[in-house]
Amino acid sequence: MVSESELQSFDVIVVGAGFGGMYSLYRLRERGLRVRVLEAGTDVGGTWYWNRYPGARCDVESMEYSYSFSEELQQEWEWTERYAAQPEILRYAEHVADRFDLRKDIQFETRVTAAAWDEESSSWLVRTDDGAALRARFVVWATGCLSVPNVPGIDGLDSFAGEVYHTGRWPHEEVNFRGRRVGVIGTGSSAIQAVPMIAEQGAELYVFQRQPNYSVPANNRPLDPEVQQSVKENYTALREENLLQPGGFGSKLQRRAVSVFDESPEEREREFEKRWKMGGFAFLAGYGDLLRDEKANQYAADFVRRKIHEIVDDPELADLLSPHHIIGCRRLCVDTDYYRTFNRPNVHLVDVSTDPIERITPQGVVTGGKEYPLDDIILATGFDAMTGALLRIDIQGRSGVSIQEKWREGPKAYLGMTIAGFPNMFTINGPGSPSVLSNMITAIEQNVDWIDDCITYMREKGYAAVEAESQAETAWADRVKELADGFLYGGCNSWWSGANIEGKPRSFMAYVGFPDYVDRCNEVVEKGYAGFRFE
Ligand code: FAD
Ligand code: NAP
Repeated sequence: MVSESELQSFDVIVVGAGFGGMYSLYRLRERGLRVRVLEAGTDVGGTWYWNRYPGARCDVESMEYSYSFSEELQQEWEWTERYAAQPEILRYAEHVADRFDLRKDIQFETRVTAAAWDEESSSWLVRTDDGAALRARFVVWATGCLSVPNVPGIDGLDSFAGEVYHTGRWPHEEVNFRGRRVGVIGTGSSAIQAVPMIAEQGAELYVFQRQPNYSVPANNRPLDPEVQQSVKENYTALREENLLQPGGFGSKLQRRAVSVFDESPEEREREFEKRWKMGGFAFLAGYGDLLRDEKANQYAADFVRRKIHEIVDDPELADLLSPHHIIGCRRLCVDTDYYRTFNRPNVHLVDVSTDPIERITPQGVVTGGKEYPLDDIILATGFDAMTGALLRIDIQGRSGVSIQEKWREGPKAYLGMTIAGFPNMFTINGPGSPSVLSNMITAIEQNVDWIDDCITYMREKGYAAVEAESQAETAWADRVKELADGFLYGGCNSWWSGANIEGKPRSFMAYVGFPDYVDRCNEVVEKGYAGFRFE
């Protein structure tokens, strides 16, 4: 047992060394605070450290999916593709760590297991899996929205004789599937990126699909150095324009507010076709009502289904690959050759929508009474998103109330950053912030800057503790719901409303509208931190 005087003590403990934790460290350390980052992995990068599966890449353009806080950094870093692949994004994270000498304050291979608020000292006692305890006035959870892999409880998974991989915990060494029989379970964004790459490696590939998803082409390409140069010459303007976009990115997506009903069928077809060619999220930016009106949405959904039928040779297979839910209600996928891959003779779609996977045997996957013999299984089964990382930690706020009790009915967080009953504790990209509906690096920068300002304010005023008021937190949760209800997000089962995890409370967990969110965060400050109590 470490005595109180031997405890390592900091101003701020940041948990997680992805883009959120790295920027928190940079920013708070610049303020002269003593900061320690605790990270479970062996190096920085978070998402891009763990998700090393073939085909992993961003679907927000590289020039935008990057930090803006340092002009030198954004000028010196050269991206090679329109959408950077995982190795390049990881190199970027490592470069940031080197450039700002971040690693000296990051403790790797350290998992935080518990944190308890101590009333007497107005500080947190944080415990780690190596048995250590650290004390800090503030804790910042930069533990990620998509950092806890969802491993489905399929009978017999442990008995499988071959290799089992999860896309979100991919090995560091290269895995080659040439000549192997590979089963991919899942057809979300991760599978949609991995399937074409694994198929190309020459594997005999079985894709187990429970529900199909809509995917639009990335139209990825090498980044023209001249284009890159011209973006860099106007970087500040681009970043500023992006802050005004609904997701904090994509000012070049030619967003239009027009209704689909105001255009003729020919005009609509031209518009969708143009956007299909542009690639990525431009597809849903053509009309203002696609995500608000179910009938309007059908036009976009029909267009994608027609495309799937154009691309996939076998009409029955095309039918199976065609989703019928609201497009955009689950996160839109962005691909390179996903649908086309199903024309290959080595790729097989196994429909498990009506006959779920019954069990896994040492030899393979059983569904519909048939066993599919396999050498490897890839779980592309997603994450316990948004709240999973925090709910796996024993966090106790005032009077020993745990985060698990607090969030039993679903998560609530004022401004998506603070939780009533949990003083001096901040979440980055927490539930109730734009997080997964936005360019998450932009959202991270905004959150961290806000937290930094709050801590600075407290130091100036000599406050020891800050805490969200319950009423403000409830009003915020109501607002998050009201905004989501104005869109079609409630219309399907999705991880961002907790539907992919058994027993998880259902609620849409992101704040819709990045600029409005930022305005409200700023307004709170202008009103002297309205909704907060200081001690
Ligand atoms: P993370 O990168 O998830 O980092 C969290 C870190 O916390 C992890 O390293 C984890 O090990 C650590 N951690 C968690 N719990 C503990 C604990 N108890 N103790 C110690 N350490 C802990 N977003 C976009 O905006 N655009 C994209 O194109 C995009 N593409 C994506 C592609 C994939 C494959 C995935 C999975 C996500 C993608 N995202 C994308 C979302 C992505 O998660 C964010 O953009 C961003 O990287 C999140 O950074 P973060 O620091 O908040 O969290
Ligand atoms: P996901 O979207 O949650 O997809 C998981 C898939 O696994 C779904 O198809 C799901 O089917 C299936 N599944 C889960 N359990 C199953 C079971 N027992 N049997 C059969 N199928 C099962 O997860 P993800 O693909 O990892 O993506 C998560 C998020 O990460 C994305 O939405 C995105 O935000 C981010 N991401 C982004 C990119 C990118 O392009 N930049 C790439 C990867 C990930 P059901 O649909 O039927 O539940």
